[in-house]
Amino acid sequence: MTKSMLVSVKLTALTVLFSLLMSSCSQSDDESINSDSISLGSTEIGLIDDERIMSAESEPGNWLAYGRTFEEQRFSPLKQINKDTVSELGLAWYKDMGTNRAQEATPIVVDGIMFLTSSWSKVFAIDAISGETIWSFDPEVPGEVARRACCDVVNRGVAVYNGKVYFGSLDGRLFALNAETGEKVWEVNTLYDTERFYTITGAPRVAKGKVFIGNGGAEFGVRGYVTAYDSETGEQIWRFYTVPGDPSLGFEDPAMEMAADTWKGSNWWEFGGGGTVWNSIVYDADFNNIYLGVGNGSPWTRDIRSPGGGDNLFLSSIVALDVDTGQYKWHYQTTPGDNWDYTAVQDMALADMEIDGVDRKVLLQAPKNGFFYVIDRSDGKLLRAHPFATVTWASHVDLETGRPVENPDLDYSEEAKWVLPGPLGAHNWQAMSVDEKSGMVYLPAQDNPLIYSIADEYKKTGIYKRNPGRMNLGLEFGRITQLFLDNIESQPTPKGYLKAFNPLTGEESWSIEIPHYWNGGVIATEGGVVFQGDALGMFTAYDKDSGEQLWQFNTYTSMLAPPITYEIDGVQYVSILTGTGGGDLFSGEPLDPVVKPASLNYNNSGRLLVFKLQGSEELPQPNLRIRDIPKQNITQVSNSDLKKGEIQYHDFCAGCHGLVARSGGVIPDLRLMGQGSHDGFDLIVLDGILSSNGMASFSDVLTKEDTQLIHNYVKARAEQDRLVAAGEIEAGKERLTWLDLED
Ligand code: CA
Repeated sequence: MTKSMLVSVKLTALTVLFSLLMSSCSQSDDESINSDSISLGSTEIGLIDDERIMSAESEPGNWLAYGRTFEEQRFSPLKQINKDTVSELGLAWYKDMGTNRAQEATPIVVDGIMFLTSSWSKVFAIDAISGETIWSFDPEVPGEVARRACCDVVNRGVAVYNGKVYFGSLDGRLFALNAETGEKVWEVNTLYDTERFYTITGAPRVAKGKVFIGNGGAEFGVRGYVTAYDSETGEQIWRFYTVPGDPSLGFEDPAMEMAADTWKGSNWWEFGGGGTVWNSIVYDADFNNIYLGVGNGSPWTRDIRSPGGGDNLFLSSIVALDVDTGQYKWHYQTTPGDNWDYTAVQDMALADMEIDGVDRKVLLQAPKNGFFYVIDRSDGKLLRAHPFATVTWASHVDLETGRPVENPDLDYSEEAKWVLPGPLGAHNWQAMSVDEKSGMVYLPAQDNPLIYSIADEYKKTGIYKRNPGRMNLGLEFGRITQLFLDNIESQPTPKGYLKAFNPLTGEESWSIEIPHYWNGGVIATEGGVVFQGDALGMFTAYDKDSGEQLWQFNTYTSMLAPPITYEIDGVQYVSILTGTGGGDLFSGEPLDPVVKPASLNYNNSGRLLVFKLQGSEELPQPNLRIRDIPKQNITQVSNSDLKKGEIQYHDFCAGCHGLVARSGGVIPDLRLMGQGSHDGFDLIVLDGILSSNGMASFSDVLTKEDTQLIHNYVKARAEQDRLVAAGEIEAGKERLTWLDLED
């Protein structure tokens, strides 16, 4: 009997015991589980250490770390479910997560127990065979924090290490829980500035007795950094800032002094700079490195952020640090002087590859900017950078200089320009899978443009003031939306793809077009199968080699989260979380020809689905969502006021409620508001009576006059869509703007 078999036998007995104990708590609130009364003596659960993750290949049934192994290739050696058997795949069980907000987590599966997070940073330990909840933990994130998050109240998962479960909460705390009981072991506030809008949505990583966590918030004007904490005590070991602060206060380290030389202007640090590390942090045992995937600039527009130019280190970069000290070793900047929200936070994978006859230890990343980077981990040198989607902002990356060659025709500092990719990226955080043996990467990609235009205020006055209560992008969404509507006929069509991509040659061995661009993460397996959940609610298995569709299951819910696979007692399982949202809430209901996502047609049901061969469970049949817009009580309002309301709505509301007041099906559609909401509009928007749901007060940034403008705009949009639905006015371009009321 191997050690892991022994552990698994012990755990099965313990799991039964927990289930019995926990069933008595099942009627009570989550937090009651965090009591001292539940103690089962020595910790046997979640016994993961560095050695165990390093030898993860010897226990392929478990999923021990975020990307399965330290290398984060997300390729599973399991093959019970394979090209021949996958047609027999069926639902084994499902668990309602009790929310209709987006699910983004990668579960960790160790010795029969699955640990995962859900929306509002809630954590669950689940029996991975039965789906029974063993414990859950709610960090009780205050509802109003939702307003500080660019992209909904999401969380991408936990780390499990030495009997503890680590996760970050949306409001910036890092927790260590006892893996056996869910009791809190320690909690730290990771935020050095609680006034600015920092959030945590990413999964922490663990290695060498440390927990690593970054944060998000670049759109709101924060300064990015990553902190390493002692995994046992929560004590801070090091912190690395990704962009420099005010030089007059001195630099934290030589790397910040070097970076400061690449920022220009008189007060660039006041904007915060951005560079948040909100997703990918990878440990490399070969070089004792930790790699940070660094985000976009704040504001987005470089003319405003750093007038006079400069690369603005370490925006949009991969930065290598010494894992023990946090000292800078090298960096590679994917987008010098970022101007488009081109984060390099997308998942990084480590691999060994033979390149031009030389064995190299490489880092692989497909960031937002559309080029797939292959970087030498020994020194950060660029080896390859092929485009994997439509890229118009640059013609290519010069391998000699390592720099992209920008397209001067698409400079948007004078006039608005459609650019590909837009801020949702050619690839976002949705996981890719690397098949090291074949050299192929399975990649969820998209062509999704934005019309970029520098803020009017700055164009007219040369001044751009940071407003602490809102996004400060340098190309504000209110105006961008109007440009979008005025120029929609020249918009390149948004499309989604699943691609089998060779990062060394830039060739695709196959590519599947998906009629909606915002799809889920990917896993590939030794069984020759690639799994992905998509916006249309289809969970699909493809032949890894040909792209042929082998199996499909309708979940009736759009998906973003990556599937994982694990094996217990000789049975292989595949799991996926359903529920969309995240960064795409702004787009709302898609415009033709992009098809409606399943979550708009049905409900955005947050569920954990687990499949096995011959599984026979069924999901409840959902009802089609009925969205009848009530007749609006519209007071006389001028077109110029409607245009003002349109700008205000898109600057402050559309980020969640959707473009042109049409929700994408996750956050309430304001066109469907009842009389109570209309009557209480200011109570909601200014007084914050719904803040516990995440709808916080906007009284710091909006006046009563503003809310009146917004309210009138929403009502006009609702009435227009109602009349189109009733066949009383024609659908067409004009339906995207406003009713033709008297000036
Ligand atoms: Ca961003």
